[in-house]
Amino acid sequence: EVVTRFAPSPTGFLHIGGARTALFNYLFARANGGQFRLRIEDTDRARSTEPAVAAIIDGMSWLDFEWDSEIVYQFARSARHAEVANSLLENGHGYRCYATAEELETMRAEQRAAKLPMRYDGRWRDRPASDAPEEAPFVIRLKAPREGSVTIADLVQGPVTVANAELDDMVLLRSDGTPTYMLAVVVDDHDMGVTHVIRGDDHLNNAFRQLALIRALGWPEPAYAHIPLIHGADGAKLSKRHGALGVDAYRDEMGLLPEAVENYLLRLGWGHGDDEIISRPQAIEWFDLAAVNRGPSRFDMKKLESVNGHYLRAADDARLVVLISPRIAAELDRPVTDGDRDILQRSMAELKKRASNLNDLAMASLFYLRSRPIPMDDGAAKLLAMAAPGVLARARALFGSVNDWSAAALEEQARALAEAEGLKLGAVAQPLRAAVTGSAQSPGLFEVMAALGRDETLGRIDDALA
Ligand code: GLU
Repeated sequence: EVVTRFAPSPTGFLHIGGARTALFNYLFARANGGQFRLRIEDTDRARSTEPAVAAIIDGMSWLDFEWDSEIVYQFARSARHAEVANSLLENGHGYRCYATAEELETMRAEQRAAKLPMRYDGRWRDRPASDAPEEAPFVIRLKAPREGSVTIADLVQGPVTVANAELDDMVLLRSDGTPTYMLAVVVDDHDMGVTHVIRGDDHLNNAFRQLALIRALGWPEPAYAHIPLIHGADGAKLSKRHGALGVDAYRDEMGLLPEAVENYLLRLGWGHGDDEIISRPQAIEWFDLAAVNRGPSRFDMKKLESVNGHYLRAADDARLVVLISPRIAAELDRPVTDGDRDILQRSMAELKKRASNLNDLAMASLFYLRSRPIPMDDGAAKLLAMAAPGVLARARALFGSVNDWSAAALEEQARALAEAEGLKLGAVAQPLRAAVTGSAQSPGLFEVMAALGRDETLGRIDDALA
């Protein structure tokens, strides 16, 4: 059975690159009927924080990357990590190293002076146990092979080879008994049954060391897939300026839908022909690691917004009303009422045609909910000033006697009035639009009037006439 995992370090938010790694792991597991697991790599006690753990879980839930089984917290498994390191002392693939910090510093200084690569020289590798000082602190190191080379058949990068001579005997267990990152990852992946390690290609170098440890332990080797990192549109490493923000910013500040972020991240670095809009079920059917691009992908906010616009138009109206309500409440500085929600629900089909994110959608719907007299923007004031004399007043009189307050009937009345006045429909509709919406641009005027209802519409026209 395929088992993948997402293993973030909780030292900050769940950023967009991490979200994509999670997505690829999720899809690969689902595509293969396997399991997707979540491991919080919180061994770095100084940098790991509770809020960061919460942000990761929150982001994963928002994106609906459902993981299987319990979350594994790496720090809680320290005893197991130590046990494995100690087992290597018994099978001869690990050894105690008593080199002191000063000693290692001298070694490095000499290597630096000789322009040699800085590597632990293996000074305790073959010393007899009788040499060991009593009661002195020691670390446990891996007795790594020195001859030959390691090749990783990476599922994205292809075969990658490193000479063993380039890998030194890494520390597995520190002198205080805590595991190093390399040890913890290997032990946890093994114990979680991970078959495919899919992660950013900044971890490719670690893979060689991790594989050496796996071999020393005689454990099954996972398949590796190192995916290229996301770069900014200018090709530089993704920074805050480029959108290297937490996924919460994509939700809260940019007003994006999770399915749009997911679709965008999927296409960023993976392709299926020319398909741009790919649903999750479709992605699960199609996803494979072979189609992951080898080169870095470029983050493009405009593209993300346009994908989001697509998903907004496809989204359920009632859901959108819920999503924009907090934004509207903040903007109007009052709670959103049931009546407001009714109006928004009736108007959503029109509103969502024009918006590309939830912020725009909320802003565009404010005019429905403002209390009278509603503010007029410059465009609206101009339309009112330019209107044929008396036309708005005659429209008010006409609508005041209308019984059928439907968009179709209202439009029919407006057309009749225009005809009677010898005007184009626009000459009637534009000042009306200004009066009713406070703007020169709005969703369909008669739909707006129908959604607002008779009293509110007539009241707004009265305000404009006053
Ligand atoms: N915790 C590591 C990170 O956040 C990932 C380790 C791994 O995937 O093997 O970059």
